[in-house]
Amino acid sequence: MTPVGIPQSLAVLTGAGISAESGVPTFRGEEGLWRNFRPEELATLAAFRRDPALVWEWYEWRRGLIGGCQPNAAHHILVEMERAIPRFTLITQNVDGLHRLAGNRRVVELHGNIWQVRCTREGTVTEWRDHPLLKIPPRCKCGALLRPNVVWFGESLPPEALQAAFDAACSCQVMLVIGTSGVVEPAASLPRVAKQSGAWVIEINVETTPISRYTDETILGPAAIKSPRLWARWQGLS
Ligand code: NAD
Repeated sequence: MTPVGIPQSLAVLTGAGISAESGVPTFRGEEGLWRNFRPEELATLAAFRRDPALVWEWYEWRRGLIGGCQPNAAHHILVEMERAIPRFTLITQNVDGLHRLAGNRRVVELHGNIWQVRCTREGTVTEWRDHPLLKIPPRCKCGALLRPNVVWFGESLPPEALQAAFDAACSCQVMLVIGTSGVVEPAASLPRVAKQSGAWVIEINVETTPISRYTDETILGPAAIKSPRLWARWQGLS
């Protein structure tokens, strides 16, 4: 049944597409390429072990790009939704930190955060906003290499974040999926789990995706335009 009005329980799943209009390149677009490397060639533990300086140079490029970006209208509308909806969870595959910068608090970062580093020996995570780095690759006080605190291809997701995401997917009334290609697992399964648990699933994307096959609504268009319109509709303003 089509939900009428503002849902009482909402899970939002976002991907790189929500940040595209803030100027953060997605991985699938041409502008996501750096020195002709595909992200799959650099965002792996094997690549880091082979050449940590190269992987860090790529992250420095990405941190430089992202550091100059601001949240857009789609990020801001999710802050309004969080304020108005009693049970709200924002699950993101993005590592750019723009949801927190916009003001969302109930954020589950499935793939980590590019503004944090992790010691490869001790596992300690620290905020690290310095850019550019003075020394590449950076090292922990203990002498071991630091790595970006992000989930690389082939690595497992943080178990608590994954549990929180599946809990929200299983129990939400509405799931809103914004700007994800729906090909990176296990995040891609979340809308299906929500659907099987009885949620109304809405997707916003500039093109159809594998998720579109089973959504209740697919809204085609840029996230920064379509997300505020959806919120206006839920509020009965349009
Ligand atoms: P993706 O790059 O695979 O797909 C992006 C999706 O966004 C596509 O379906 C595309 O059609 C859609 N899109 C592009 N512009 C849009 C717009 N203006 N409005 C709405 N939709 C738009 O991204 P993904 O699905 O998030 O998965 C790739 C992985 O890449 C994730 O694991 C993520 O961690 C990582 N990543 C993150 C960032 C970031 O933090 N901003 C950027 C690039 C990649």
